[in-house]
Amino acid sequence: MQYPAGAVQFQVSDLNKEIPVTTSNLNQIPSLDEVLVLGGGVAGCAASIALARKGRSVTLIEREPTPRHKVCGEFLSGEALEDLHALGIDVASLGAVPINYVRLAAARRAAEAPLPFPAASLTRKTLDTALIAEAIAAGVRLVRGRSVQALERTTSGAWQATLNDGATYEAATVFLATGKQDLRGHTRPADPQRWIAFKMYFRLAPAQASELARASELMLYPGGYGGIQPVEGGIANFCCVVQQRYLARVGHRWENFLAKMRQDCPHLAMRLASAEPLLAKPIAITHIPYGYIRRTSENGLYCIGDQAAVIPSFTGDGISLALHTARCAVAAYLAAEPASLFQAKLRSALLSQMRLAELAADGLNNSLARAVLPFCLRVWPGVMRVTARLTRVAQQATVATHAVAG
Ligand SMILES: Cc1cc2nc3c(=O)[nH]c(=O)nc-3n(C[C@H](O)[C@H](O)[C@H](O)COP(=O)(O)OP(=O)(O)OC[C@H]3O[C@@H](n4cnc5c(N)ncnc54)[C@H](O)[C@@H]3O)c2cc1C
Repeated sequence: MQYPAGAVQFQVSDLNKEIPVTTSNLNQIPSLDEVLVLGGGVAGCAASIALARKGRSVTLIEREPTPRHKVCGEFLSGEALEDLHALGIDVASLGAVPINYVRLAAARRAAEAPLPFPAASLTRKTLDTALIAEAIAAGVRLVRGRSVQALERTTSGAWQATLNDGATYEAATVFLATGKQDLRGHTRPADPQRWIAFKMYFRLAPAQASELARASELMLYPGGYGGIQPVEGGIANFCCVVQQRYLARVGHRWENFLAKMRQDCPHLAMRLASAEPLLAKPIAITHIPYGYIRRTSENGLYCIGDQAAVIPSFTGDGISLALHTARCAVAAYLAAEPASLFQAKLRSALLSQMRLAELAADGLNNSLARAVLPFCLRVWPGVMRVTARLTRVAQQATVATHAVAG
């Protein structure tokens, strides 16, 4: 399939479209659970599975009727693999591709270093499908295809979630895991840089696919960065971020932006030569408050995943962070630790890695750094390994076996 030139124009109104859903009278029956988990992505599923395995009654509400493609580079770091393994997710059997190298390309230079930890890549559609199935198997009650519109305290002190069909669900405790989407009344701060992210799948030309094999490549260009890596099914994920003012310079059009990235980064142009785009148009999101770590918890709400912290995407650590925050929140809840204390402890534990990742991201966006970085890495490839380690979230997990090891 050829990508239809000029057919795709990025529009903010294209984003966050609600999928039409059907409702049933059964869904109108009020429900009271011990825990409500809002959002069935990585963090919400992980928390639901862990709570259900501890015998807690959990209802998980996910707005999509079935898992779909999400804007994500789909890189699974060593920490993410450990947490997924502990949840019973065997990424190798799902077709995950082992990733052993990281390459950095800017202007006309590229440098490579081995990753200092096992890593893999797997599409979010496959991963989210497996996580939802594991949640159901653990006994989680799943409500899908309907979105939470409001979350409020009732006069009796319970939380009440109202869905888009008017049904209400009540619980003493709520885990907020709606990821990139904020719930009305529980929003995160604005994103001053006004980042926009895109994801597109490509079938690369055979020579390019074999050169990319087992590597995650980071490409730098003015106004942002992008990553390309193989995923299951013999295809490649290309995911990129750009500040809105740079996108404005190319008329907010994806095909213009892609052409500009290829021009600014010849390595990307080489990878995408004769590549076949596999989605009719890229999927996109806005409002990515990189560097955000939630300070406080409102009224005892446990906030996890992107609702707790948003790490710069180039680290490939968002999924690991989502799993980590879910695990910590469940441990805190089971230990009767108040949500406010959990959120404060999480913040102080994440602060140094987050600030370091932000510093590194600023460096990637600096034109001088962009020009010299690959050269420095060639001379001293160890710097890439050090950066990779420092920007990872510290893990307590002791699971040693990796389903995917190079
Ligand atoms: C450009 C980019 C590239 C990235 N690349 C990587 C990478 O390579 N590796 C990595 O580890 N991380 C990466 N990340 C980060 C990673 O995608 C996120 O950190 C991770 O998905 C967060 O998980 P989550 O569970 O919080 O949110 P999600 O996985 O997004 O799940 C949230 C869920 O909530 C549901 N939901 C939303 N609103 C409602 C509602 N009102 N009612 C009910 N359900 C709702 C959504 O449908 C969704 O399923 C990247 C992020 C970006 C922006």
